[in-house]
Amino acid sequence: MEKTIRLSNGIEMPQLGYGVYQVTPEECERCVGDALSVGYRMIDTAQAYANEEGVGAAVKKSGIERKNLFLVSKIWLSNYGYERAKAAIDESLRRLDTDYIDLMLLHQPFCDYYGAYRALQDAYKEGKLRAIGVSNFLPGRFIDLASNVEVPPMVNQVETHVFNQQWKAQEYMKEFGTAIMSWGPLAEGRNGFFTNPVLEAIGKAHGKSVAQVALRYMLERDIILIPKSTHIERMKENMDIFDFALTDDEREQIKALDTGKSLFFDHNDAETTKMFMGWRGLV
Ligand code: NAD
Repeated sequence: MEKTIRLSNGIEMPQLGYGVYQVTPEECERCVGDALSVGYRMIDTAQAYANEEGVGAAVKKSGIERKNLFLVSKIWLSNYGYERAKAAIDESLRRLDTDYIDLMLLHQPFCDYYGAYRALQDAYKEGKLRAIGVSNFLPGRFIDLASNVEVPPMVNQVETHVFNQQWKAQEYMKEFGTAIMSWGPLAEGRNGFFTNPVLEAIGKAHGKSVAQVALRYMLERDIILIPKSTHIERMKENMDIFDFALTDDEREQIKALDTGKSLFFDHNDAETTKMFMGWRGLV
């Protein structure tokens, strides 16, 4: 649990955290409270999840010192452009009830992300954000942005799981000192994930579950992880990945599960762009 990834500006980020996508605002405070009680110290939320207030409330209730926590949030498209993003950062600070956010990301690679990114850079320099980055920036757009900004993204959060392993994307990120963070680390159960025979057999050999094997595989690849569950037992299970190691042969078997394709939506596809234009007003 204490394993950290050193970001390009030198700050240490817990490698394993807890994500709250699709956790209702009402449920969020209880879930984050449970996650903190079992030992998670990094929480991933977003303006678009409409539950930043629940995260803030759970943090306050936990009594854990702010400096021992790592809060991640993301700016939504409707808040892009310099001025709007600047104001939206302050709104997230207010909802999270905190003086600073440890890592703020641009949620999607559409609309005026250059303007929004400049707002991130300025808030970073002012100390409102300890680190900044992006999400869903596939290599083409990632390289463009990272090459044209003053402070390259410290993190890029992209769909990453055993069926879409992002090896090439991770290499490009390394060139800019950017750490890779996985969303959907359990593939949200898609593609028969929880009954995958390769993962089941490897799990059996180590006395571990399919989820634990998949998370361990990515942990060993220096990927930042935020599995989500609303059940405290599964939260514990998803954390319990530090006491075993995969063999080279097991790693090769898991590597062979990679299809190189998204199980959700391909951000390079024009239809995806159209879909997000429809979702711009979400927040
Ligand atoms: P995930 O891959 O973490 O899967 C979560 C689902 O798997 C749960 O709803 C539950 O049904 C199941 N599950 C979890 N642990 C289990 C276990 N041990 N055994 C059996 N079933 C289990 O999916 P996710 O929530 O989409 O991704 C994790 C986090 O990533 C999110 O909560 C969010 O913080 C972030 N995220 C970011 C983006 C983005 O665009 N940046 C997109 C999606 C998710």
